[in-house]
Amino acid sequence: MTFSARPTVTLIEGDGIGPEIAAATVVAIEAAGGTIDWDRQLAGQTAAEKVGDPLPAATVESIKQHSVALKGPLGTPIGSGFRSVNVALRQQFDLYANVRPVRTIAGVPSRYTGVDIVMVRENTEDLYAGVEHYVDARRTAAESIAIITRFGSERIINYAFEYARRHGRKRVTLVHKANILKLSNGLFLDCGREIAKQFPEIAFDDMIVDATAMKLVVAPERFDLIVTMNLFGDILSDLCAGLVGGLGVAPAANLGAGGCAIFEAVHGTAPDIVGKGVANPTGLMLSAAMLLDHVGQPGPAQRLRSALDIVLADASTRTRDLGGQADTRAFTAGLLRVIAA
Ligand code: NAD
Repeated sequence: MTFSARPTVTLIEGDGIGPEIAAATVVAIEAAGGTIDWDRQLAGQTAAEKVGDPLPAATVESIKQHSVALKGPLGTPIGSGFRSVNVALRQQFDLYANVRPVRTIAGVPSRYTGVDIVMVRENTEDLYAGVEHYVDARRTAAESIAIITRFGSERIINYAFEYARRHGRKRVTLVHKANILKLSNGLFLDCGREIAKQFPEIAFDDMIVDATAMKLVVAPERFDLIVTMNLFGDILSDLCAGLVGGLGVAPAANLGAGGCAIFEAVHGTAPDIVGKGVANPTGLMLSAAMLLDHVGQPGPAQRLRSALDIVLADASTRTRDLGGQADTRAFTAGLLRVIAA
């Protein structure tokens, strides 16, 4: 997909601390030289309160039209008819690839150095396909079915290799449990082995999920890009966030069939700190950097990432959740100073 020099992007500020971190992020993108027109739309709790619908048709239309969105965290109002607005968005746009890069940032408290991993998680199949039922009327047993298809496996593994090629990643590690789940996970692994042949410049290996969990803790620098199924990806991506200082600095992209892309921080609405002016915008800003790359503005993306590295390395501009002294305003002011220097 190609984008104009000044694309329009749907902006959903979201709930809780969403508006605080979105405001800081919009300013930071512009300062870094990003050229984007925002189409501001509502979703979540805020949308339910303002227009009586947590996922208004206008928001869905806007994302359809522009194909790219930056989204703050969303709360799902109880009784809204949605299990989760985020899941509804995922289904609406068939957002099959969840991409979460994690890397060590100097100054952000962590047990590790030198971590730089991209997690590519299949987002629509597996145990999360929602096929669950009680086995008997007395509800003494329940069954959840993990669905793995060749179609779903091939498209996520292809996406992972294409991503590796685009971003200069040297190794793809496919994570599975095919030694036990011989059919479903075996299918996923077979697809990986086949597709890897089309990318001879990228090293390929596979690892069993339990061994992966151990290896990620013992030697995370061994990994470059991991591709895996929904459940393992869900668990391992949080593990990876923990390697670099937690969810506060974790960005994510959700990529859909048909070219739709929604970028968001991994954390939630942080209800305990709403309105206190202390929210850390790093997760959303790093997601915005991924968005800038996606719309063909790698220069501003890199400027934003480099400025974040500098601001986070300095306790006077690092936010309090990361052991620094800054509130959202001081963090953002520091970032703008670095970008302008
Ligand atoms: P949370 O991520 O909102 O908060 C967990 C802890 O981390 C809190 O102490 C919070 O203050 C802190 N925190 C999170 N982000 C922060 C930031 N940017 N700066 C500083 N501190 C931050 O998780 P939760 O409390 O489990 O969830 C709250 C709500 O968010 C729930 O309604 C949940 O459904 C929703 N949620 C939404 C998304 C999303 O929209 N993508 C993701 C996760 C949770």
